[in-house]
Amino acid sequence: MGAPPRDIWWSQRARASGYASEAELRGAFGFPDYRLNQIYRAAAKELADGIDSITVLPTVLRRRLAHALPFTTLAARHEAVSADGQTTKVLFGLAGGQEIEAVLMRHRNGRTTACISSQAGCALKCDFCATGQSGFRRNLTALEIFDQALALARRARTRGEPLTNIVFMGMGEPFLNYDAVMDAVALLNDPKGFGLGARHITISTAGVVPGIRRLCSEGIQVNLAVSLHAPDDLLRTKLMPINKRWPIASLMEAVREYVAATRRKVFYEYLMLDGCNDRPADARQLADLLGGPLHHVNLIPYNATDAAYVRSDEAVVRRFQEILRERGVPVTVRQTMGADIAAACGQLRVDRASAAGAVARSS
Ligand code: SAH
Repeated sequence: MGAPPRDIWWSQRARASGYASEAELRGAFGFPDYRLNQIYRAAAKELADGIDSITVLPTVLRRRLAHALPFTTLAARHEAVSADGQTTKVLFGLAGGQEIEAVLMRHRNGRTTACISSQAGCALKCDFCATGQSGFRRNLTALEIFDQALALARRARTRGEPLTNIVFMGMGEPFLNYDAVMDAVALLNDPKGFGLGARHITISTAGVVPGIRRLCSEGIQVNLAVSLHAPDDLLRTKLMPINKRWPIASLMEAVREYVAATRRKVFYEYLMLDGCNDRPADARQLADLLGGPLHHVNLIPYNATDAAYVRSDEAVVRRFQEILRERGVPVTVRQTMGADIAAACGQLRVDRASAAGAVARSS
């Protein structure tokens, strides 16, 4: 295990505020150790949006810290709400000028999910995904990842809906920013802080095998989702170039080890692309691939991007689902949300147009 979450938060908060360390910041303002707990708790658990609203702190300290210790690494630049009001997409600016997006979804079943980014851009260039098209910018820090959850949790709270789930399905490949993602998970998970149970957190990977192996050894209960999207190497490599590096056999072996080590169910994501990977033969091949216990397939309706793919017909998706079911594979079809504001899976992409129309606002 790494440092306690409180210390991760403080050291990153201090650095983001221009101090070399938490000790240097504390030295500069001369407050005792217990203030560290108070401030961390207020930010991470009570979702305070700044020092000013932490009324347990003396006014003088609040005033002095207000400018020295901003409570977010993110500047909300633009916000879009879907026509049905269930999905909110927020464009955030980062220090250094990069931009990321995160999405808040209110599901019909009462859950409220935050879909957050782990990298600005993505290096993997999956053929169907909008994020990969603009390339990789940089890794996010644990605090930048955590601050997305806080910003969305505050928005959910104003509607009286606590955040119930977090998915790493925004921009980027979480396992190519492994340490920061795990620190962010520790922050999200901390009972003294944000307090979201690990079982309510899902990390989605395009198939970075060493990341899956490392996760086996963490002893944490987060959910693992694997973006499979094709049942054979030829097709998968065409859709996801990462398959050259870690072909399906090595991916499935790592997943089997993960299941054996954790006894946790693995979720497979399978995009339904018209005439590409949605034939009955693909379903049968997929079922053969998934032999063994503890798995669940999510069929994902493709969301339009600039790429030359088309969503499969509903009847084709149903048939695909039936074939998997007949072969004993637990399978559901993912509900698409936020397509009208380009907030659906794989549509997150920061382009010049959205950045130019941005309105400066704090998160
Ligand atoms: N890099 C990680 C997480 C980010 S993508 C991963 O690959 O899993 C989250 C999910 O959205 C992945 O399953 C991805 O394949 C899927 N996705 C990408 N583009 C999509 C699109 N246009 N429509 C629907 N899902 C898409």
